Amino acid sequence: MSRRWLSAFESGRLRLASDLEALVALESPSDDADRVGRVARWVRDRLGERGVAAELRPCPPRGDALLASVGSLDGGTLLLGHLDTVWPVGTLAERPWRVESGRAYGPGVFDMKAGVAVGMAVLSALAPRPPQHAVSLLLVPDEEVGSAASRELTVSLARRHRRVLVLEPSQEGAAKVARKGCGTFAVRFSGRAAHAGLEPERGASALAELARFVLFLEGVADPAAGSTLTATVARAGSATNVVPESAELVVDARAWSGGEAERVTAAIRAYSPACAGVTVGVEGGFDRPPLEPTTQSTALYERARRVAAELGLDLGAARVGGGSDGNFTAAADVPTLDGLGPRGGGAHAREEHVVLDDLPLRAALVAALVCEA
Ligand SMILES: [Zn+2]
Repeated sequence: MSRRWLSAFESGRLRLASDLEALVALESPSDDADRVGRVARWVRDRLGERGVAAELRPCPPRGDALLASVGSLDGGTLLLGHLDTVWPVGTLAERPWRVESGRAYGPGVFDMKAGVAVGMAVLSALAPRPPQHAVSLLLVPDEEVGSAASRELTVSLARRHRRVLVLEPSQEGAAKVARKGCGTFAVRFSGRAAHAGLEPERGASALAELARFVLFLEGVADPAAGSTLTATVARAGSATNVVPESAELVVDARAWSGGEAERVTAAIRAYSPACAGVTVGVEGGFDRPPLEPTTQSTALYERARRVAAELGLDLGAARVGGGSDGNFTAAADVPTLDGLGPRGGGAHAREEHVVLDDLPLRAALVAALVCEA
């Protein structure tokens, strides 16, 4: 069965590659709703031509999401991905699409326009004889910036399906069975300004407190357990001869388990400043829960591994620090397997690329998985 899928997608490889090239040509940074919407319309139109019902779902203030479906009943599989990339408009002119030694290069090609092309190929292949239980494809416009505008849509659709397969890039070919939860804390320090030469003792330095806070974070983090707190952006002070009245710090937070995310959050919120004249306000927190392996999602991985073996693919299992929308669907108790997109490398980096030969293979894996009861 899976072998038959493979030969079908092998003979459709030219279309897979030309779809991918067209998707890369439509630059779609998360903060440009028009351009992201243009990709959504392009996918809708192509799928329409291939007999797949597809529609746009607005996700203000971001661009539109794309929702396509074959089959009529609830309870099947949701294929999940995103239309946006981290690359600003103009990157394509600098680093145009090119193919070299079987690898395709271009902004967003790996994360995750290749997964979008695979999702389109799977739905198009299923359209002539749709499975009873729906196979849906949801592509959101804002995954790279946290999915605030699409999260509800993703979770409500996931709940109508039996499982979620995320078409995000694979980890060197392996599926992603665990992802860290992640979040951002914005910490504001308010002190008292004073002349640094005349009467510094009357001041209360927000910057000095910020510095203490950064060291405090090192004590809260537990890198051995995978709980990391990284101070990423800091701003302080107003002039070279003034005790800083205000300071701001951004902290990137990651953890493998919900328990660790809670522990870290509680510690940060309970921080008490060493300097009496400074107050500290904390906003934000974990906005993506961890994707923790559950019995159900492990069973889903085992099934995928078996189907992959029929295709001659040894599907590994990876745990990764980066989050995806799979974190939300797993937290909503829908069995989720992530990282089913093609092999490649350099996500969010200049050498971003995808292995073209892997596209038909991944499409066959996904198609065989969704058709298996
Ligand atoms: Zn991605």
